[in-house]
Amino acid sequence: MSLSDYESVIGLEVHCQLKTRTKAFCACPVVFGAEANSSVCPVCLGYPGVLPVINREMVSLALRVALAAGCEIAPESVFARKNYFYPDLPKGYQISQYDRPLATGGGLTVTTPEGEKFIRLTRIHLEEDAGKSMHEFPWEDVSASSSLVDLNRAGTPLIEIVSEPDLRSGDEAYEYLVKLRRLVRWVDASDGNMEEGSLRCDANVSIRRKGETTLGTKVEIKNLNSIAHVRRAIEHEAARQAESLDKGRPVVQETRLWQPDSQTTRPMRSKEEAMDYRYFPDPDLGTLVVSRDWIDEVRRSLPELPEARGASLASRHGLSPQDAALLTLSRPFADAFERAVSFHPANPKGIANWLLSEILARMSDADRQAGKIPVPAENLASLVSRIDDGTISGKIAKELLALMIDTGKTPDDLITEKGLRQVTDEGLLGDTVRKVVEANPQQVAAYRGGKAAAFGWFVGQVMKATGGKANPAVVNQLLRQALDAPQEG
Ligand code: ADP
Ligand code: ZN
Ligand code: MG
Repeated sequence: MSLSDYESVIGLEVHCQLKTRTKAFCACPVVFGAEANSSVCPVCLGYPGVLPVINREMVSLALRVALAAGCEIAPESVFARKNYFYPDLPKGYQISQYDRPLATGGGLTVTTPEGEKFIRLTRIHLEEDAGKSMHEFPWEDVSASSSLVDLNRAGTPLIEIVSEPDLRSGDEAYEYLVKLRRLVRWVDASDGNMEEGSLRCDANVSIRRKGETTLGTKVEIKNLNSIAHVRRAIEHEAARQAESLDKGRPVVQETRLWQPDSQTTRPMRSKEEAMDYRYFPDPDLGTLVVSRDWIDEVRRSLPELPEARGASLASRHGLSPQDAALLTLSRPFADAFERAVSFHPANPKGIANWLLSEILARMSDADRQAGKIPVPAENLASLVSRIDDGTISGKIAKELLALMIDTGKTPDDLITEKGLRQVTDEGLLGDTVRKVVEANPQQVAAYRGGKAAAFGWFVGQVMKATGGKANPAVVNQLLRQALDAPQEG
């Protein structure tokens, strides 16, 4: 059998760091890149006799994500201790939620080649992060065989978002993560940055014969540091499982580590070595009660969600659903569009086109996610309005945009300073057209002899002679007059 006789089945477990000011159960500030062990206290260091206190902001941010994803919120949920031993886990357990999570159900819609598809969520629960172990470091006075521990991250608030096994390919998993990242950012709950570890994903992958309805044995893949790696790792793992089955070897349930260098996975632990976490309710923390009022308050504070915003952009500004959806890349990006439209309401379509082509092409991946456009919305609006009122040509506008980005100046200042104004004056252009025609008798003969393509060549020559500033419509008209004029004699 070949890989195409199988279907991949994927469920993702995503850890997402919440953007709180302080940690989940103590008052230590959440820091990134600070001096090691500089943001710690007896609670997050797991000293005996201390008591954790739940951070209300953590719950509010988790509720934002859960409500935005359409989950059911549990009026009461329970914190549990997940027990394991590791140097970066000072208490010897992680506070998490187990059989009574904060939220269940809900889901995200992803776009696939076959159309829109709803990916169900199993649950969203609250937990705290562990610290960080370092096995490689630049310091010569520390023996290379030692490991160092930084506990700044210990106790950082996380949510874990678990999907049902509804995804069917690496591409769908990729789309799901892009949508999920957009959502957690959209509702201001997380930075959603996978490279910095504020979004982390484990992928559960199994395969089965097409048409089969029972699930195959799954393999969990860890160490996926980018959305692109998730896609690659899933594709690689599905192929590995298919090859194994074809050789008559059943898939073994295990956890495997993605190795970015070789783009392969290697076994980490088998089912037999799987940890028994001995979960039990944390006696130090009471039941988490989320009132109807709290839920309503959070719901009211949510911005219009991406899909709804896309639909409203399309209807209010007369855009295609596709363009409107692209404009909801991130909330600041959609905001930039609407801000630009407020300065030049006559042409939302033109503004959308510029944002989605020229502007987007000049944005880094990080800028795209953050919606950071390289020019102020006001200047984008005036760029489009100067094309619309005929001051500049579309071609010049592209050069102008580059200048705007480089200098930060407004289009009007640059048009004056660089003399970019489009030439529409028929007298002026008529002179240029005449000169070009007179200087190229052979091309004129060729055109008149039936070589229609020569017309474009003439347009090009006039454009060149005017430094690209000639109004193309006027040039066309003048050239037609000059070349198509009835011949004398
Ligand atoms: P575990 O008990 O190993 O944690 P769960 O049933 O809690 O497994 O599921 C964890 C994740 O794995 C979920 O995202 C779920 O959708 C996914 N999953 C479960 N079974 C399969 C399977 N057979 N193939 C692919 N993904 C699966
Ligand atoms: Zn602390
Ligand atoms: Mg599980």
